[in-house]
Formats: sequence, structure tokens, C-alpha cells
Amino acid sequence: MYRNAAFILLSSLCAVRAAQSSLPHASEADRAEAIAIFKQLIEINTTDSPQGSVTAGTEAMQKRFLDAGFRPEDVHLLGPDPRKQNLVVRYRAAGTPTEKPVLFLCHMDVVQALRSDWTTNPFQFVEKDGYYYGRGTQDMKDSDAALVATFLRLHREGYKPKRDLILALTADEEGGKFNGAKWLVEQHRDLVDAAYVINPDAGGVELDHGRAVVADVEATEKIYSDFQLTAIDPGGHSSLPRPDNAIYELTTALNKLEAYRFPFELNEVTRTYFKNLAGRETGQRADDMRAILTTPPSTAAVERLSKEPSFNAYLHTTCVATRLSAGHANNALPQTAQAIVNCRILPGHSPEEVRNELIALFADPALAVRYVSSEGQVVDSAPDRKAMSPPAPLPEVFEPLTRITDALWPGVPVTPEMENGASDSVYFAQAGIPCYGYSAAAIERDDDRAHGKDERLPVDSFLKAVDFFYAFAMELGEE
Ligand SMILES: [Zn+2]
Repeated sequence: MYRNAAFILLSSLCAVRAAQSSLPHASEADRAEAIAIFKQLIEINTTDSPQGSVTAGTEAMQKRFLDAGFRPEDVHLLGPDPRKQNLVVRYRAAGTPTEKPVLFLCHMDVVQALRSDWTTNPFQFVEKDGYYYGRGTQDMKDSDAALVATFLRLHREGYKPKRDLILALTADEEGGKFNGAKWLVEQHRDLVDAAYVINPDAGGVELDHGRAVVADVEATEKIYSDFQLTAIDPGGHSSLPRPDNAIYELTTALNKLEAYRFPFELNEVTRTYFKNLAGRETGQRADDMRAILTTPPSTAAVERLSKEPSFNAYLHTTCVATRLSAGHANNALPQTAQAIVNCRILPGHSPEEVRNELIALFADPALAVRYVSSEGQVVDSAPDRKAMSPPAPLPEVFEPLTRITDALWPGVPVTPEMENGASDSVYFAQAGIPCYGYSAAAIERDDDRAHGKDERLPVDSFLKAVDFFYAFAMELGEE
């Protein structure tokens, strides 16, 4: 069993460098099995389309677990829709565990891909020039395959963890009405309840010309919310304009939004991020990063950093107008004017809080500010639930993660980050379960092809991820 005696104490997560250790590679047979699973998953179309079926993918994995000797009561295929069945596999601890399980959360669905857009067939697993090509090679059938292979291999080797390990392969992360992660945590909490979640749908190792430069661990993320603004007016003949006008009413509100900036705010994760980054930057930018960390922070530094969109998104909740529609005829006063405002909300704040801030900003009781749900329903108030707040960086997660990462990519700093997007982690975070996003997939900075054409992953990155998850799952099972 792989286990390094030297534990690294994390007084801070700042550019942790673990002692170098060697990590045994999977055997040829173990690698061949992982690659076979990867190929099988890529070649099952799990898009949210008439041709796609998540169930076909989860059933294929269910068969592998049952064939390997997992007990049927530990292999659950379930979901609210026949084409969107989730698979939840429980790897039982030896004896009675004292700690709650660890959950690996992996979505099985992929974004649609058209043969005509691609160089290869997106639903064919093609190895070419040191890469695996196919829809899902980056997002995220690589991790699905690595974790299925890990569970099978540990089982074959007779590994007995001290706590249960759970693997959930889920539907509708990329879209669709039957989000498996949300449904499981709301309807079958007993099956997926865990001390914490490892979600390989985020984070990973950034390569720069083949050199690993940083390993990002997603520790928190912003929450996505759409709001619909509606101005209504009786309208009338355009030859007789009046002061009241739905378009002017709406644009007055949008002008206020354009000029508004949500308050500057740091959390544990973004604070560490800027502290780490300041050490790698130089000049005014490095000074500014340090100056926003002081109490009180330098408002001039906040101002300068906020000019850069990526930093701005890290420092503030953002809301921006993304769609507009108004009027019904060239010669009529508009009766309706509508806009969509898309917000990315910092951890610790709820969509309803932001909706109320927008209402206060517009100061126009006649202008309706409604929430648009992920299913597209427009409702009068928004959810009260807060965005995933940054969990404490658990040493029992970060120590092995850092050590194993260092064994595979020596010297690479492990840094927690906040995603400006959103993953299924949010449903578990809202249920009070801390989530950490890490794919262990090494990808060139300029080769992010998730959701895009000719999606691909270096062969070496896949094999390293297989080695990573094997060692990582075993270590987490020991805690
Ligand atoms: Zn994904």
C-alpha cells in the first residue's frame, strides 16, 4: 500500500511544497483496464439529446461493479427519469467506521458534439499524437474512468478502508431537468451523505509547455443567478410621447447597474489566492495584491485591481445585463421592456439578497425584478440559500492531495481557488457538506477544450490521474 510517513503540516496553503515521494505506477493490466473503461465511456453518448442516454453509461458501469463482486445492495442505479439514471456505489469499510464516508462526485453527462464540427468522431475514442480524443476526455469521463478503475482495483486487491468510500456517477450537470447531484442530496441523502465531497469536475494541474506550474484546488465557487427586469406601461401612439415610457424606465435602471459595483469582499480562499499570487507578481500589481489584504484594505488598490475582469470577478459579486427586448411596433409607445441581468454571487450571499440589492439600487417600485430559475421559470423571489461558502481547508484532504500531487508533478504548488463558474458541488455545499474540486488532470493552459471541438487529453495526463486517484482514495479511506 502506498503511504508516505512524512506528513506535511500546512500552516498555510501558500505554495506548499511536499517532500518528494515516489508513487508506484499502476501495472500494465491495471492501466489497460482504466483505458478500456475510458474508451467505453467516451463511446457511450451521454448528451442530453434524443441520441444520448446517461443510463446507458451508468448501466455499463453498474455491470462492471457487479461482475467484480460488489454486493448488489452497495450498487444503486436510481433517478427520476429512465434516461437519467445515476449510479451510487458504496465501497464498504472494514468493521464499523467511526468517520463519515468520503464521496467522489462525478457527472456522467457530456455537452453535445457534432460530427461535422469535429476532426474525429466525438463519440469514438481515438488515440493520436499522444492524446486521447473524444467528447468527455476533459469534462469529465477521464475522472469517471479513473475513479471506476480505482474502486475496482482496490476491491480486487482486497483493500479495506476505515471509512466508506462512495462514488456517485450522476446525470444532468451540463444541463437538463434531472440534475442527479441535486436529486440525490435532496431525495436520497442517506446514500450520498459524507464528511466531505471530492469533485473532480474542477481544479487540476496547469501545464505551460509541458511544465506543471500550479495545481488548483477549487475550494469555493460563485453562485449563478439570472434576474428578469420588466417595465410595463399602457403604451399609446408614438406621435404623442409622454414622460412615462417602458424603455426609458428600463434603461434608467440599467444605467444605474452599469455604474454600480458590489462591495469589495475577500474570503479565506481568495485571500490565500492573492497572498500566493503577490509572491509571483512584481511591481505595482504585487503591491496592490498585498494592499488589499491589509485592514482596512487600500481602496486605491482595490480600484486598480478591479480594472482587470478576472480580478474584478474575484473581488466582487458581479451583475451584468446580457439580454434586452422591448416594444411591439415602430410607431407605438412600448408597453413592455425587459432585460436579463446575470449575476455571479460571492460565497456567503444569497440570490434573494442580491435581488433586494438590485431593487434598492433601481429605486423604482414600478420596475419588477424577478428571479429566473435554472428550469427557466420566472418567480417573484429568489432562493435564500447562500452560495457555497469556503470550507476550512481540511488537512486530511490537503495533506495527501499535496503529497501525491508532488510525487507526480514535483515542486508544483497546490493553491486553493474560487471558480467563477458553478459545478454540482453547490448542492452538497448547500446541504452543509464541504466540497473540494480537483481533477488531477494536467492540461496545457491554452488547451482547455471542455465543451469545445476536438476535446482531448494527453495520454500521460490520464495515466497520472489514474495513479493519483488510486493513491488518494486509499489515503482518504485511512483517515
Ligand atoms: Zn464538467
